[in-house]
Amino acid sequence: MDMGLNGKRALVCASSKGLGLGCARALAAEGVHLVMNARGADALNDAAEAIRSEFGVEVTTVACDITTEDGQSAVLKAAGDVDILVTNAGGPPPGVWSDWDRDDFIAALDANMLTPIALMKAVLPGMMDRGWGRVVNITSQSVKAPIPALGLSNAARTGLTGYVAGTARQVAQHGVTINNLLPGIHATDRAIQLDSGMAKAQGITMQEAHDQRCATIPARRYGTADEFGAACAFLCSAQAGFIVGHNLLLDGGAVSSTM
Ligand code: NAP
Repeated sequence: MDMGLNGKRALVCASSKGLGLGCARALAAEGVHLVMNARGADALNDAAEAIRSEFGVEVTTVACDITTEDGQSAVLKAAGDVDILVTNAGGPPPGVWSDWDRDDFIAALDANMLTPIALMKAVLPGMMDRGWGRVVNITSQSVKAPIPALGLSNAARTGLTGYVAGTARQVAQHGVTINNLLPGIHATDRAIQLDSGMAKAQGITMQEAHDQRCATIPARRYGTADEFGAACAFLCSAQAGFIVGHNLLLDGGAVSSTM
């Protein structure tokens, strides 16, 4: 299927590894030129070079922390008039409700709510003027079903979800869609971090933690970054222009609900 994306330009944040990289690769496979970002320059440059050589698209890299104002300015300057924005950043640390104070919440809100909002505010006017745009925010299954150990994530991402629900309906008339992708457990460094947290907390091995988490997923496996990227590319496609303000869960059936 031709997704109508050839020659478009995308900013994909936090994309040297994991789900962000999956999105960058899937868009590149459709002929989308990229601005990629992460804090670590080495992994970012390696990922960009691999994409250039595999897909023949232009890739600009900006090594910075996307959760800072300076980082956002640098990335937005490199991105210019992008057609597609994929927001992403690292997730907050796990813990229990009594661990977190105001500073922890402010950091989580900055990373997982206010950063994507700032990026959307910066690129939406241009997309609306040009009459076409796609925004995909990487959030979490925790906005549909809370993950108790990830209270910071539950809180910040639900705030972003509320903002998107209203904003998506204000920009849709201009040919711009905003949707959220909600990952369940995917086989990335983040999953290893969370397996490790569980292993330490329960005094079990990493394999036992992995097996216990797999047992909570009807598909009985972790998702892949390629599967996740493919869903992102579809939400960015010409064919997805009538999908507005949606929260698409990619979780192997882990969130048990009828609708
Ligand atoms: P990952 O494998 O750890 O990859 C994170 C990527 O983001 C890396 O490229 C990292 O590079 C970059 N990054 C992290 N913080 C950044 C920052 N402040 N500024 C710029 N780049 C940054 O994580 P992932 O599994 O892809 O997860 C992506 C998001 O989905 C996270 O918010 C995570 O909490 C959420 N999520 C993941 C899962 C899962 O099972 N994987 C499930 C639910 C939600 P640098 O470290 O070099 O910056």
